[in-house]
Amino acid sequence: MEKRAIPSVDAVLRDKELRPVLEVYSLGLVTGAVRETLDALRRGMIAGGGVDVSMTAIASVVMERIQAQLRPSLVKVINATGTILHTNIGRAMLSAQAQKAVSLAAGFVNVELDLETGGRGERDSHVEALVKRLTNAEAACVVNNNAAAALIALNTFAEGREVVISRGELIEIGGSFRLPEIIRKSGCILKEVGTTNRTHPLDYTEAITKDTALFFKAHTSNYRVVGFTSEVSLKELVGMGREKGVPVVEDLGSGALVDLSSYGLPKEPLVRESIKDGADIVTFSGDKLLGGPQSGIIAGKKEFVDRIKSNPLKRALRADKLTIAGLEATLRLYLDPDKLAERLPVLRHMTRGLPDIESAAQKAKALIKDALGPGFCVTVEDGESVVGGGSLPGSGLPTKVVAITHPTIKPDEIFRRFLGAKTPIIGRVNKERFLLDMRTVDEPGDVAPG
Ligand SMILES: *Cc1c(COP(=O)(O)O)cnc(C)c1O
Repeated sequence: MEKRAIPSVDAVLRDKELRPVLEVYSLGLVTGAVRETLDALRRGMIAGGGVDVSMTAIASVVMERIQAQLRPSLVKVINATGTILHTNIGRAMLSAQAQKAVSLAAGFVNVELDLETGGRGERDSHVEALVKRLTNAEAACVVNNNAAAALIALNTFAEGREVVISRGELIEIGGSFRLPEIIRKSGCILKEVGTTNRTHPLDYTEAITKDTALFFKAHTSNYRVVGFTSEVSLKELVGMGREKGVPVVEDLGSGALVDLSSYGLPKEPLVRESIKDGADIVTFSGDKLLGGPQSGIIAGKKEFVDRIKSNPLKRALRADKLTIAGLEATLRLYLDPDKLAERLPVLRHMTRGLPDIESAAQKAKALIKDALGPGFCVTVEDGESVVGGGSLPGSGLPTKVVAITHPTIKPDEIFRRFLGAKTPIIGRVNKERFLLDMRTVDEPGDVAPG
């Protein structure tokens, strides 16, 4: 086919085949799509491929191109992975209350306006009182995530000076958060003490020099050191710090605001306990166990929180109004602990009873059988969910899964088929079977591919 067989942009726009497109979309949008379509045809022709230059074909490509451009990239997905806090799908599912607050905050809100005086208000004020109340800290503020909270705490108290930390706590969290790197990027000098499995009080005190600025303690949230181990408790560290005039920062990672053991779950360190044990600053995530939007919460002694608030980095790391709105609404749910497990999805999913999960799995099984048609083997089986997000490592929660297999279709293909559903359904492949964990699925019909 010759190059000149490709029509001009004007010719395409004037053609009757384009009329339906122009009835729906504006001329500017259509013109751009026509130009791109013709360019692609030209490239295809140069590459020697057979290209269809008929007006009907061009019009349909133009329509598809526009639809693809207008389609949102961020879409709702169904979490049937069995991981309650899954980073790839946005960690914590927000409560209805938090979702509403985020949506309201999309308009104008008093994020930095004092409604009593009409003057400048404080962005952190919307969550500070709540964090103080829930943790007994003297003061608090919020940044974009816990990595940012650790970064700004380190930079505020130890820039250009030494930070003492146990080798057993030099953790890496997925997604390139490595504590030694964060310490260096904060402008601090890392001073490792102890060994991977054992660190003693003397290791800390012997490491003190005139350049020591900070004792840093990190909760090893995503793994456990078991066996011949020894760790210096926060309380001991605070005691030594007081004696030597060295402040103590603890990075709790998840940081629970309620005692999970009261719900029959494994215990996760409480922020309140770290405050009680005397940490000058505690940092934790807003979107892990707390169940709110991505954020990093900094709580502690007023003098120390005030220093963080006046660090110029705070401006660069401050949370936006949508985050503050979602976090405020989430924290407010904690004021009514009796209703928390029902209202906060993270806790609801963690505490969901096995009979309830099983009944959802049975309903889903029937719907999936109908949707997939014959040939597929669909069963309900025992499984194990995890909390994820570096919380409660090593403790799985018994669950019920819908297992789907086929004599000739591979589990990876079944995985992709569910992924391609109108609302993508995210399951997982385990031991040559495709599994849908119903723990985090509120509506059984959600896992039947349309
Ligand atoms: C998860 C985690 C972080 C990072 O928190 P983000 O909110 O993901 O930035 C830092 N430290 C610890 C101990 C963690 O578990």
